[in-house]
Amino acid sequence: MIRVGVNGYGTIGKRVADAVDVQPDMELIGVTKTRPNFEADAARRRGYDLYAAIGDRLPAFEEAGIEVAGTLADLLDAVDVIVDCCPSGVGERNREIYRAHDVKAIYQGGEDATVAEASFNARARFEAARGADHVRVVSCNTTGLSRVIAPLDETYGVEKVRATLVRRGGDPAETGRGPINDVLPDPVTVPSHHGPDVNTILPDVDIDTLGLTVPATQMHTHSLNVTLSCEPDTASVRELLREEDRLFLIPETAAIDGAGKLKEFARDVGRSRGDLWENCIWEESINVVGRDLYLFQNIHQEADVVPENIDAIRAMCTDESPADSIATTNRTLGVGL
Ligand code: NAD
Repeated sequence: MIRVGVNGYGTIGKRVADAVDVQPDMELIGVTKTRPNFEADAARRRGYDLYAAIGDRLPAFEEAGIEVAGTLADLLDAVDVIVDCCPSGVGERNREIYRAHDVKAIYQGGEDATVAEASFNARARFEAARGADHVRVVSCNTTGLSRVIAPLDETYGVEKVRATLVRRGGDPAETGRGPINDVLPDPVTVPSHHGPDVNTILPDVDIDTLGLTVPATQMHTHSLNVTLSCEPDTASVRELLREEDRLFLIPETAAIDGAGKLKEFARDVGRSRGDLWENCIWEESINVVGRDLYLFQNIHQEADVVPENIDAIRAMCTDESPADSIATTNRTLGVGL
């Protein structure tokens, strides 16, 4: 069993913890919180051992009546791998602590690529993390782009990707952050930093990205134009993308017009927290004109990186094949709509 801890039990951390907990080859040793808030309470109610991320805050947990099993140092001494799900920049500051405890560490996409030996996406770059001690799972947007571009590049060759990322202003629980009161070019400089991040996964792909931030919270929307090296027909591109485990082609008959109905669908089919681990691509939007492919996809920023974290753990700690790991992750979580 791979012993796993989660440092930072927020939006991503709570989901990674749940995912680890259902893996047949992993044991969730515990999660950390900086303070005894509702998420600390929820972690205990789920039966997870809770550790104080900051040692001198232990009394605050006791005062709040929330049982803790120890501090971050105790958790690090008990795990093989720690999944750092702290806010951007905190992960890098934690790296020395992880090194001092000699544990493998996974960081999230808010960290610079230089935080780790390898950037990870299960579909496009599984082996880069094989046996590594420090790995970064790329951001929700980079994950979403990599999952689409990889099969297109392998099958048709990709000459150029142009992607516009229409990003949510904040996550639903972020009261201080969004929705914003405008449509903002964000960043206003073009191309945006997202393209170079995709190159940490697919180094040879020529990609330019543009970003906007809008008054929404539920999902990101990507508008993609991919110039291919050949002229496949639209039907075969749809079939290729349909075959991918972590891509969901939204059928026209579903009458899903946006993130609201997508999330409603996820809740209706029993997805925990209404999570959508898959890229959600509108099937009718997939269209080829000459060598140019167009499509719209939605990315659930809170969820799509979760199965990737699980596969990253296996890449770092086992010799399991990418296909076997991805299959186990998909089966245990229920990935695939
Ligand atoms: P979050 O703010 O929801 O959660 C972070 C958690 O870490 C909070 O519970 C916070 O209290 C805790 N924390 C803060 N400082 C800590 C410390 N020193 N030690 C331990 N815990 C600490 O953030 P998030 O959205 O889950 O993002 C985490 C990482 O995942 C970031 O790198 C982010 O860029 C990345 N990411 C976020 C999203 C998203 O849309 N939310 C998507 C993909 C990747």
